Amino acid sequence: MRIKPLVQAKIRVPLNVVFFFGSSEYVASGPVYIWLIEAEEKIVVDAGVAEEAIYPVEGGGEKGVIRALEQEKVRPEEVEKLIITHLHFDHCANAHLFHNARIYVQKREWEFAMNPLPALRDLYVQKYLEKIESMDFCLVKGDLEIANGLKLVTLPGHTPGLQGIVVKTKSGEYLMASDHFYSYMNVFPPRQDILIENEHGKAVIPAQKSPFFPIGLYVSLEDWFESCYKATNLAKKSRIIPGHDPSLEGRTFD
Ligand SMILES: [Zn+2]
Repeated sequence: MRIKPLVQAKIRVPLNVVFFFGSSEYVASGPVYIWLIEAEEKIVVDAGVAEEAIYPVEGGGEKGVIRALEQEKVRPEEVEKLIITHLHFDHCANAHLFHNARIYVQKREWEFAMNPLPALRDLYVQKYLEKIESMDFCLVKGDLEIANGLKLVTLPGHTPGLQGIVVKTKSGEYLMASDHFYSYMNVFPPRQDILIENEHGKAVIPAQKSPFFPIGLYVSLEDWFESCYKATNLAKKSRIIPGHDPSLEGRTFD
């Protein structure tokens, strides 16, 4: 199997979403990926963001999905399995395009998305969920192998029912971590302060002592750390693929 991150959109979010105690004033820009897994059948992970969302989006929508898959000569209707890692607005907005696919979501995630904590309501869009529910959709309870060499694994913390995917390739196993880790910096915390700068301003990402650098958006930091150790049981740190790291664009994991 082979994993290909495909850029579906760019999104701008405050740094305190990306990193624990990050600046709320600095706005970071990052890619929204959908992921093609080339196996005996066509498998896609996540369905991207809409053209309009709670944070500013560039690209996105159905067009963004179609264009991203077109680079790999795949049409959404050819996809046989769609895995949704979690139900945040930027991971499931275009699931309806995959109308011939079986859709995999964790049951715990689905239940939370139907009734989110009040402060997190804006991250879930009920009309996306209604569309998904009318499709060939299945709720998964816990870890499950859904194809030869492809296993869904729960990584709660960012959301209650986030699932990563362990994918066997010819070089060994990778863990697709989705938003459990937004970037490689969450996996490999900086040991020195890092100054970042873009057209919106400057910020410092402070040196971390922790073995993992928490993301800024989570439902349980305790579960999040627990899931970090589960992640490192499943794959070497260097074989963990974060969900929104800009450096993934154009890469292939095989
Ligand atoms: Zn998320």
